[in-house]
Amino acid sequence: LAQLFRPLDMLGWVYRTIRQGIIDMAAMFSLMDTAVEVADVPGAPALVVRRPGVVFDNVDFGYERDRQILHGLSFEAPAGKHIALVGPSGAGKSTIGRLLFRFYDPWAGRVLIDGQDIAQVTQESLRAHLGIVPQDSVLFNDTIGYNIAYGREHASDAEIERAARGAAIWPFIQKLPQGLETEVGERGLKLSGGEKQRVAIARTLVKDPPVLLLDEATSALDSQTEQDILATLRRVSEGRTTLAIAHRLSTIADADLIYVIQDGRVAEHGSHTALLRHDGLYADMWTRQLRDEAEEGEAIPEPAQ
Ligand code: ADP
Ligand code: MG
Repeated sequence: LAQLFRPLDMLGWVYRTIRQGIIDMAAMFSLMDTAVEVADVPGAPALVVRRPGVVFDNVDFGYERDRQILHGLSFEAPAGKHIALVGPSGAGKSTIGRLLFRFYDPWAGRVLIDGQDIAQVTQESLRAHLGIVPQDSVLFNDTIGYNIAYGREHASDAEIERAARGAAIWPFIQKLPQGLETEVGERGLKLSGGEKQRVAIARTLVKDPPVLLLDEATSALDSQTEQDILATLRRVSEGRTTLAIAHRLSTIADADLIYVIQDGRVAEHGSHTALLRHDGLYADMWTRQLRDEAEEGEAIPEPAQ
């Protein structure tokens, strides 16, 4: 009989999810696949955040029983610090983000925010404290103002403007004939990758979460736009606990702490300089990327004298 009710549970979940303003993560996390995997424990209290430190404590996890992805993974993002998660593709970095948002529960171990096990608090309160800037930001077929306000219900125009300024998209909006009322998306004004990214950042600013996850947030952009967005993100993440998943190491070299993830484990950790000195996996990746960038640079013809 329980089976019969699942589709209804799912509908309720979708409705609540949309209301909570987290459906924009769907593109990244394919929420629908995971909708029925986690549930609030009966009488779960709300997450209370004073110092938003994040801890992964000895986490085992896999999507399928016979294929473990994370193996006793432990790391810490101290409150207000910026940490980076780097490592080869398929290492489990995005999976870490999905566990932080509790789209799945670990097989073993715990994920803690400010000392509270996220499996023991309500999902609504958990997600209210988390913000994400994904690789490909999704816009709704609605006004640009709506797309920004989506971060939080009942955001005022003044709050939207402040967020748009913070995300460096306000000058662009002001030049639009209909300003915040301009329709964007499939049927409206098409925005560039960088503009969409700024809208996503503005949405995050409206939400004002203490914990921020950036999952390869700038990798889809050309390098000038990437530099601009990185500067914006740096400002936005000021004072927030930030977990940045990055492919291009140059974008996270200034992180307070870098964790190198390999095969679902922390292979190395330290500052950029300490990891270079250590001369292990990170140093290899760094050298390889410098070489690739140098080769790309050579491929560009010299400007005419
Ligand atoms: P990264 O972000 O480091 O590139 P991911 O965390 O996305 O790596 O993936 C880690 C491993 O988990 C990969 O082998 C990937 O194929 C697998 N994986 C990711 N998502 C799913 C899923 N929804 N179902 C099954 N396996 C998955
Ligand atoms: Mg990934």
